[in-house]
Amino acid sequence: MKIPIAKIRNNNILNVEEQINIKDIGENAKLVKPIALKGLLKYTGSEEIYFEGTLYAEVVLVCVRCLNTFVQKFEINFSETYIPKRFAANQSREKDADLKELDVFTYKGNVIDTTNVSREILIQHIPPYPICPVCRAEKNDI
Ligand SMILES: [Zn+2]
Repeated sequence: MKIPIAKIRNNNILNVEEQINIKDIGENAKLVKPIALKGLLKYTGSEEIYFEGTLYAEVVLVCVRCLNTFVQKFEINFSETYIPKRFAANQSREKDADLKELDVFTYKGNVIDTTNVSREILIQHIPPYPICPVCRAEKNDI
C-alpha cells in the first residue's frame, strides 16, 4: 500500500493493518499466503517517518541439505526510520560514514510504500542457507 506522507503528517500517528501479496521474495522462497502487516507510522518532524510493527509470514523454503521444501514461519518485529531520498543524497555527499552508521531507510517522493518495506524486511530475515527442521534435529544429535 502506498501511504502519502501528508496523510501521516496530518494524523501524526497512522495505524496500518494489511495483507501484502508479494511474488518475488528471492530464489527458492515462496509465500504460502500474503504477509500480514500490523504497525504504525509516525511523523517525527523534518520529513522523517518512524515505522514500527510486526510482519507475519509463512514461507516455503528449500533445505540446502536434503533439498526438501519446508514451511518456515516468521514473526518479525521491526522499527525503522525513513528519511527522504534527497536528504540521504545530500548527507552522503557531505559525510558518508555518518549515514551508514545511522542505518536509515529512504523513501522517494511523497509516499511510503509499505509493500516494498515489508518485502525488504522479510528478505533480510530469510536465511541464505535454509535448513529444514528434520536436518536441524539430526545436526543437533551429532
Ligand atoms: Zn533438510
